[in-house]
Amino acid sequence: MTHDLPPTVHADSRELVESIYEAVDGVAAAYPRATFLKRAREKGDAAELWQALVDAGLLAIGVPESLGGAGGGLTGNTAVMEALARAGIPPLLYSLTSFSREAIIRYGSEQQINDHVLSTLSGERKICFGVTEPEAGTNSFALRTTAKKTDDGYRISGQKVFISGADQADHILLLARTAAPGEKLTRRTGFGLFIIDLSTPGITLNRLDIEWYAPENQYEIFFDDVAVGESALIGEDGLGFDYLLDSLNQERVTIAAWALGLGNVALEKAVVYAKERAPFGKPIGANQAVQHPLALAKAQMEAARHVMYAAAAGYDSGLDAGGQANMAKLLGSKAALAAVEAAIQTHGGSAFVYETDVVTLWPMIRILQIAPLNNESILNFIAERVLGLPRSS
Ligand SMILES: Cc1cc2nc3c(=O)[nH]c(=O)nc-3n(C[C@H](O)[C@H](O)[C@H](O)COP(=O)(O)OP(=O)(O)OC[C@H]3O[C@@H](n4cnc5c(N)ncnc54)[C@H](O)[C@@H]3O)c2cc1C
Repeated sequence: MTHDLPPTVHADSRELVESIYEAVDGVAAAYPRATFLKRAREKGDAAELWQALVDAGLLAIGVPESLGGAGGGLTGNTAVMEALARAGIPPLLYSLTSFSREAIIRYGSEQQINDHVLSTLSGERKICFGVTEPEAGTNSFALRTTAKKTDDGYRISGQKVFISGADQADHILLLARTAAPGEKLTRRTGFGLFIIDLSTPGITLNRLDIEWYAPENQYEIFFDDVAVGESALIGEDGLGFDYLLDSLNQERVTIAAWALGLGNVALEKAVVYAKERAPFGKPIGANQAVQHPLALAKAQMEAARHVMYAAAAGYDSGLDAGGQANMAKLLGSKAALAAVEAAIQTHGGSAFVYETDVVTLWPMIRILQIAPLNNESILNFIAERVLGLPRSS
């Protein structure tokens, strides 16, 4: 069976991507969208979904075979996320864990890869991701969480916010300032990237009440003079911000997959409804005013999907995929938003009935215009780094 793969899925990866789609069909049968929504409404957790991913071997995708994973690179990660989102069950923690693993694979020691990457394959380790702070927001340079050097490690103090899945994860990948007060901060100085056990004394969690439909919750996390050993630091002290930026292209593409998968759910539902609903005796889908927004969203999603898989293929071949990865996130999130908007309009009042499960797609797609990085900042990147325009103030 083929899954309508765009030509930008590299020839070497097509078989793998097909097999990922089939594996996800099995996961979705065990954990359908209805369960996903039920757990979301209960403010529950995604433990069963995670276990289904482990059982299907999907957590091994994206970890190089040389390290004991199943390989597949970013193309593989993208396919896993896209297929899960197309099934209406995108696990946020998958995106966070696979992104965190990428930073550790690139810059961590052999021991850290063993402890924190390979242990994710069996589901034993789940990693959440802590960058955002209440005051600093998008401006990570302004973050205040500090990691002060001690004789045998660091002491961490500060606060993170909006940290997804912190209750389900056992570790957090944390960006903190290691610079002494007054020391200059740049991309290459003053920050450390840490992998920290969330059960370490001094860490407390406070759940936020976020209006969306996902089985993962968001948390404020407080670090009160938390002692961690040297082994918590990834790579070199000072370079944490640089490591983070270097690994972000992976995240951008995975987010595009998440958005586009959900956009596809919205569009498919709208097409079915537009063929059936006939308040004037003929299906509403026979009206071009109903057709055109759906057709436009389809075209926009198809274009974004091409860029997404091209970015993944570029990344996997070692090219600088920054431009395409950012474009994929921008175009994918916007196309998905166009799809869900058109789906809501097509469904009329029914879109707002919980059981119809249309408006329930909107908050997650809408948040992807803002998180993990807002689309304005993505446009800033494209303007400055791709077009070479002067840096905006
Ligand atoms: C459901 C959810 C899950 C999340 N999960 C995580 C997580 O797991 N880990 C984590 O670290 N963070 C997480 N976040 C945080 C998320 O990454 C931030 O919300 C996001 O980066 C934006 O930061 P902010 O909310 O402080 O917005 P602000 O920085 O206050 O920005 C507000 C708005 O201002 C505009 N803006 C900001 N900067 C610029 C600019 N440079 N140029 C032009 N316009 C700009 C944008 O429109 C932006 O939406 C999550 C957020 C949500 C809602």
